[in-house]
Amino acid sequence: MAIARTAQVVGTERMGPDTLLLDLLATEPLGFVGGQYLILDSRIVLPSGKAVKRAYSFLTSDAEQIRFQLAVKRVPDGPGSAFVHELEAGTDILFSGPWGKFFPREGASGRTLILATDTGITAALGFLHATRFAPLLPQALLIWLRGSSDYFLPDEFVRKHIPSDCREVRIEVIPAIGHPERVPHARAILRQVMSRGGLAQAFIAGDGAVNQALLDDLVAVGVPVSKDNVESFFNMPKKSA
Ligand SMILES: Cc1cc2nc3c(=O)[nH]c(=O)nc-3n(C[C@H](O)[C@H](O)[C@H](O)COP(=O)(O)OP(=O)(O)OC[C@H]3O[C@@H](n4cnc5c(N)ncnc54)[C@H](O)[C@@H]3O)c2cc1C
Repeated sequence: MAIARTAQVVGTERMGPDTLLLDLLATEPLGFVGGQYLILDSRIVLPSGKAVKRAYSFLTSDAEQIRFQLAVKRVPDGPGSAFVHELEAGTDILFSGPWGKFFPREGASGRTLILATDTGITAALGFLHATRFAPLLPQALLIWLRGSSDYFLPDEFVRKHIPSDCREVRIEVIPAIGHPERVPHARAILRQVMSRGGLAQAFIAGDGAVNQALLDDLVAVGVPVSKDNVESFFNMPKKSA
């Protein structure tokens, strides 16, 4: 069973109309590896009886285990993100975690692709800031794809939070979530990346529809990936897939 933990909101910053950056202070060290997430318990229970608990990825470096940041996009009519957007400094939050297998493997080497779509950039930034990933940064390529240039976190913020050793960064617009051309577009970008050299490893976070297609493409060309290399935030792949 998940153990309930607490953290205090020590600051909030609006990063645009629908994005909130939260500064938090945990009551004890989190014990997370960059790329993992927590599950926030809003303590709201829907009329259906379902508790509103939502996952949010650690944005900041795992070198710091007490003070951390989350960035949350407000999803229309979403109770979890609406709850987060009401939080103010001084409030305590309840959560469990760390959770997830989306983090750098110990002792891995070689050219590494980290590809994020949409809000998946939080997990990608956390991953890039994992202490154990530092030696691989000079061979790392970060790609962030989103539906418009003002989606979620500003480019400027993201660029500022990418470790300076990261070899290559691409931030691009792709068709909106659910658009029929979105997946083909993302696959074309992956083909382009692979045409410029092999990948020792790849990690993909964000839109589950894109993740699934890219995972299949990576497997097809022999890049050693599994479901653990992927973190879907929405458009979850079917369990049987
Ligand atoms: C492992 C993991 C890590 C996550 N990390 C983050 C994070 O760091 N920041 C963040 O903002 N969100 C993150 N999310 C998404 C988050 O958990 C919630 O799904 C989101 O806040 C919406 O919750 P809600 O209750 O407001 O809306 P809900 O009522 O739960 O959602 C309504 C619908 O919107 C979908 N949805 C969720 N996010 C998006 C999106 N970006 N674009 C389009 N549809 C979406 C949901 O899947 C659902 O179908 C993460 C999800 C997972 C699984």
